[in-house]
Amino acid sequence: MSRRTVLVLNTGSSSLKYQLVDPATGEALATGLVERIGEPTGAFKHTHDGETVTSDDAVPDHGAALAKVIATCAEVGPNLAEAGIIAVGHRVVQGGKYFDSATLVDEAVLAKIEELIPLGPLHNPAAVTGLNVARELLPDVPHVVVFDTAFFQGLPDAAATYALDREVAEKYEIRRYGAHGTSHQYVSEQVTQMMGRDVKQIVLHLGNGASASAVVNGHAVDTSMGLTPLEGLVMGTRTGDIDPAAVFHLARVAGMSVEEIDTLFNKKSGLKGLAGDNDMRGVRERADSGDPVARAALDVYVHRLKKYVGAYAAIMGGLDAITFTAGIGENNGALRAEVCEGLEFLGVRIDAERNDSRGGPIQISTDDSAVTVYVIPTNEELEIARQAAALIG
Ligand code: ADP
Repeated sequence: MSRRTVLVLNTGSSSLKYQLVDPATGEALATGLVERIGEPTGAFKHTHDGETVTSDDAVPDHGAALAKVIATCAEVGPNLAEAGIIAVGHRVVQGGKYFDSATLVDEAVLAKIEELIPLGPLHNPAAVTGLNVARELLPDVPHVVVFDTAFFQGLPDAAATYALDREVAEKYEIRRYGAHGTSHQYVSEQVTQMMGRDVKQIVLHLGNGASASAVVNGHAVDTSMGLTPLEGLVMGTRTGDIDPAAVFHLARVAGMSVEEIDTLFNKKSGLKGLAGDNDMRGVRERADSGDPVARAALDVYVHRLKKYVGAYAAIMGGLDAITFTAGIGENNGALRAEVCEGLEFLGVRIDAERNDSRGGPIQISTDDSAVTVYVIPTNEELEIARQAAALIG
């Protein structure tokens, strides 16, 4: 049978991340990243067949970025004409209340994604740009959008609803939409497969952005991100949970504008705000060498995580599995140990040696731990490719 692949695109405001994926085998035939789009020098990296090419040529806009990707594939491979591309799969952060699964793109869908920009101001504009340029440059393949919110579309009302005036909430579509859904779906499905039965599980996606989800029998019942990806865990540069009255206070007392507070909460807080560094590796190294500021930042980070684990065990009425994923979750054993420390009362027992090992999927709990704890590398691109392929049929 000839190969069938999906070109997965993740468009950011000044970046384009891509992967050509075989959804059946999970193989990535090409991966790459165009960064610094619109700046005087660009940053481009393309990997195919174990070989990587790079360039720092200026890339004026997203159209030029995708054209560069296509041209590079022609030069160094893979040959796109022979790659059997059945779809282009686009990651979109905010699908609002409209999208609960992967969707074929047409003008109406595009208009809805644009309409949702006020709910995803930091992400949806870039997705629209990515969709427009990709549909123009690759007009003969179906384009599919996979929403970061879709996995959480079916959250129970009690978890999705803010205790806000009903009329205001409805009029302005203020509810908890969640994010990182593609990762939570991929990882939780892996756990269900590995355990071979329906389970009550918590997935901790700890990357630059970070989120937790509670999943019962394959359905998300709660998640830590809310109206936007700002709510919940401590992140690289985001506050996570904070009393909204901090906004009123900063506006009234510090005279800050809404835009300034938005930037403060989204870009200058989290680990960066607490320890001056959004990269967990740096914060961990400093904490290990006795820096009290870095240690205090980690304490806040771990405290918040534990709070969510306890809360989710309570709302699920039990717990079978906890899974760590994404950059920090997959690589930082010390952090995993700190999060699990003291959770023996829930049935969590970590095996120190297993927790020290690299790679995954791997079980890091002891064999007699009532709660199975895993490290599972996330693969959002593969999940997007699978969903797009399933939709195309
Ligand atoms: P993004 O949300 O940008 O996709 P990632 O999932 O790549 O983020 O995670 C980035 C985070 O993972 C950073 O804080 C980085 O320090 C952390 N990280 C990556 N590798 C390691 C490592 N070996 N040890 C500890 N932390 C790591």
